[in-house]
Amino acid sequence: MTSSEIRRQFLDFFRSKQHLIVPSAPLVAKNDPTLMFNNSGMAQFKDFFLGNGTPPAKRVADTQKCLRVSGKHNDLEDVGFDTYHHTMFEMLGNWSFGDYFKKEALEWSWELLTEVFKLPKDRIYVSVFKGDEADGVPFDQESWNIWKGIVGDESRIILGNKKDNFWEMGATGPCGPCSEIHIDLRSAEEVAKQSGRDLVNADHPQVVEIWNNVFMQFNRKADGSLEELPARHVDTGMGFERLCMAIQGKQSNYDTDVFSGTIGLIEELSGRTYTGQMEKSDVAMRVIADHIRAVSFAIGDGLVPSNAKAGYVIRRILRRAIRYGYSYLGFTEPFMCKLVPHLANQFADVFPELTAQQEFVATVIREEEIAFLRTLGTGLTRLDQIIEQLGTDKTIPGETVFELNDTFGFPADLTALIAREKGLQIDEASFETALQAQKQRSRKDASYSAGDWIELQDVDKVEFVGYDNTETYAQVVKYRRV
Ligand code: ATP
Ligand code: MG
Ligand code: MG
Ligand code: MG
Repeated sequence: MTSSEIRRQFLDFFRSKQHLIVPSAPLVAKNDPTLMFNNSGMAQFKDFFLGNGTPPAKRVADTQKCLRVSGKHNDLEDVGFDTYHHTMFEMLGNWSFGDYFKKEALEWSWELLTEVFKLPKDRIYVSVFKGDEADGVPFDQESWNIWKGIVGDESRIILGNKKDNFWEMGATGPCGPCSEIHIDLRSAEEVAKQSGRDLVNADHPQVVEIWNNVFMQFNRKADGSLEELPARHVDTGMGFERLCMAIQGKQSNYDTDVFSGTIGLIEELSGRTYTGQMEKSDVAMRVIADHIRAVSFAIGDGLVPSNAKAGYVIRRILRRAIRYGYSYLGFTEPFMCKLVPHLANQFADVFPELTAQQEFVATVIREEEIAFLRTLGTGLTRLDQIIEQLGTDKTIPGETVFELNDTFGFPADLTALIAREKGLQIDEASFETALQAQKQRSRKDASYSAGDWIELQDVDKVEFVGYDNTETYAQVVKYRRV
């Protein structure tokens, strides 16, 4: 089954259960000061759960373009290194606004996965919220009973904690237990050796979470206590690319037809072969195949790369991909822009906004590439001079690394990579000091560049959105996600 068919079957299934199919909201969150990008299917329906406004129907389903690169959900550092977290991905979802509840939601999810998509029942695990006494939230016995009725075998039901199995919008407001569905895609041999049950939520690349069913059941009051909501809601989200991996029998999202066309093109343009392993060129191809989607869809939704806020995040994602291409695939000329027509064509049936904007998108990306490749070139020349001046000294001062970044926009981890290749090292302590000083200076600024990535003034906290997790400069990653 192709990915287009899988998406269509999902929507057809919920249409047959009287759901109204609605379009995806744009990637860039509109009119929501608490959110920079849409990062889940429910974001565009938030008001309905809060009792403001009326939903278009009591039952709704869609595929939502999501971006998880900032705030509470930031998967950027995993991209390229694992095979199932993307920056931009599609979240398939169905909703009940005060209509059906746990029984229908869980039974339909099982029916869709095992009868329509024919996923093997003995490879599916489900999780149920086990309760949290300290927090006053009870065990979700109701969902447990429903699952017991559906799957029979209790060993397939896992009790989960608050982190994985309880959802809340904020400190106060709607909240409730969730029930997740995980699938074990390992070989029969591996399964015989170790039960998939032990690998659920353990970051195993072949035992992955595919679907989350959230049941909004309580209202958290200001004093911390819970009251039952008068109208109960269902909010579900399923990772489309992961679902395709499961149905198409692949070991990685990148091996599905969602990504294989783009990867094929990158192979052609670079003259290298994708081996699906952890080689630098493999990581680079995954990063590029992932990031081109995030950037293209964001620009297609009206967000151009810039030096501020959301536009800056997009610029940084694009630059991260360019740098991988430059460092590990030998690209010195614009290449990302050449992938756009393929994406536009691939998603024409579901996201025509990209198809309509494709020339504009490719042009914007191309201009960014030209500018950043020039930056890389200038930085390299300057770095060569610096290294020459070092003489017999084997350590590049941290201030110099910082200045290269600050003045020339030359990424610190790239400096580290080059230094290492030349048998040199970087004075990390002084780099750190320079970075801290810069941090102080730009504290009042809402967003600022620190090496490869960006610091965002989020709703409630400042966070460093991450250096590259490459082997090159992991040492300087002092500010991790919070
Ligand atoms: P994970 O634990 O794998 O990070 P999650 O619990 O953060 O996922 P949810 O917020 O429950 O994810 O989102 C619903 C579904 O969206 C998940 O079950 C998963 O299939 C999918 N999903 C979440 N994050 C990503 C991502 N970065 N890339 C691709 N799919 C994702
Ligand atoms: Mg996550
Ligand atoms: Mg999870
Ligand atoms: Mg989840």
